[in-house]
Amino acid sequence: MNANLYSALRAAFPANLDSLAIQPADGPDTHSHYTWRDLDRASARIANLLGSLDLPPESRVAVQVEKSVEALVLYLAVLRAGHVFLPLNTAYQASEIAYFVGNAEPAVVVCSPKNFIWVSRIAFQAGTAHVYTLGDDRSGTLLERAAYHGDAHTPAMKRAGDLAAILYTSGTTGRSKGAMLSHGNLLSNAQTLKAYWGWQPGDVLIHALPIFHVHGLFVASHGALLNGSPMLWFSKFDPKAVLARLPEATVFMGVPTLYVRMLGEAGLNHAACKNMRLFISGSAPLLLDTYTEWQQRTGHTILERYGMSETVMLTSNPCHASDGERRGGTVGFALPGVGVRVHDDQGQPLPAGEIGNIQVRGTNVFSGYWRMPEKTKEEFTADGWFKTGDVGKIDAAGYVTIVGRSKDLIITGGYNVYPAEIEGYVNDMPGVAESAVIGVPHPDFGEAVVAVLVPRVGATLDSAAVAAALKSQIANFKVPKQVFVVGELPRNAMGKVQKNLLRDQHQSLFKNPVA
Ligand code: AMP
Repeated sequence: MNANLYSALRAAFPANLDSLAIQPADGPDTHSHYTWRDLDRASARIANLLGSLDLPPESRVAVQVEKSVEALVLYLAVLRAGHVFLPLNTAYQASEIAYFVGNAEPAVVVCSPKNFIWVSRIAFQAGTAHVYTLGDDRSGTLLERAAYHGDAHTPAMKRAGDLAAILYTSGTTGRSKGAMLSHGNLLSNAQTLKAYWGWQPGDVLIHALPIFHVHGLFVASHGALLNGSPMLWFSKFDPKAVLARLPEATVFMGVPTLYVRMLGEAGLNHAACKNMRLFISGSAPLLLDTYTEWQQRTGHTILERYGMSETVMLTSNPCHASDGERRGGTVGFALPGVGVRVHDDQGQPLPAGEIGNIQVRGTNVFSGYWRMPEKTKEEFTADGWFKTGDVGKIDAAGYVTIVGRSKDLIITGGYNVYPAEIEGYVNDMPGVAESAVIGVPHPDFGEAVVAVLVPRVGATLDSAAVAAALKSQIANFKVPKQVFVVGELPRNAMGKVQKNLLRDQHQSLFKNPVA
């Protein structure tokens, strides 16, 4: 049997291929729409174009383009052709693209028409033979060339373990690494989520996430495609525009910042969400405040899940009451077929409720980092579990809670401080909207705890008063030595707070002037 992921997605298309598959909700052309037949034919043409290039099997196709339906079709075409899809964040600049192209050695690069001059120079210098362009308005050479090819194509034969995609991690420490995901990793996870989240006939997904990342490309797109469900397709997130289309949808997936921004809209209420079945959040921690406010304003309980580029989805709060209740502040249970355990730094298992290193295994877990066998070896335990780098706990009922990344752990005067614990206390204070707690070099303590706070709209915060209030609640070594109040926290496109930037910014704070 062919384990090509495209074959499984194609088999899930509805019987009526002329029904709606994707409706663009913004961008240059909201009047047109895409049927399932359109997706099938358009991806066949591009797959045939790739086939005509006589590339070796598993050639990398690196893609840095604006979000569009055609960009998703390109992904499907790469799967079909049996090559390896390598999406790149649209924010990446020349030096970053040079690194990815040098590291992955793609046979084909597809970029935005406006970036062709500098991207093609980098690609040709690195030995890439084919560079195409694709704009968000169907412009560019990719579709022009594909138009010469036929609209029927038989998916390349694949085994479950064959490579389907390489996702470069965001690389907040050191160079970013290419996580190698197979057709089997992606399909098994998509099938698990289809069942666990109860995808059903009549579902309509609002797709408002970027498609260079695991969340938008795999979790959201595969979810809808594998259920034969139409998508309302936003090329960018705009809270007002999304709100206006909620009555036509049943499922929404977002990173926490999207929920926060929608809460800022007066029109978000029970009536606006009355047709919705499921709101899903992930990629970064969802504040309890957001979770509760969303419940009050809409009557819906956000389902929070946890995953990463290397593993696709790992845990999820339940969708159906029969699987349990959704618990705010937790990322739910290990998904069916996924193993999640917590070990200490010596590799010993920890009892329920104790904080340690989260390790995982399952058919969803990647095979390793592209051309980094040593790094790959380091990140797996001797018994084959992947070390996620996340720190957390599993309670007696099986709910998993993430408290942070292990590299964010602060060691001050020999004591461990978990930033999430301090952030929890700070966020509970009146006038605080959110916070980030980091460790910065300190001549006496090794590292010192520093808190960066964002006030609620209209509130003013006094740094000294915050520190004083914390002193009465937590051990002295955990109290931030310095508290900063800022307008907003630096975040990446997926809404993750970029603590590395905060650490860089404050790294000389306690520098010994004599040293
Ligand atoms: P990425 O590979 O970019 O998807 O990043 C994966 C990382 O995002 C994980 O290792 C976690 O640190 C974080 N993450 C993803 N989902 C959640 C969540 N629901 N809560 C907290 N952190 C999350």
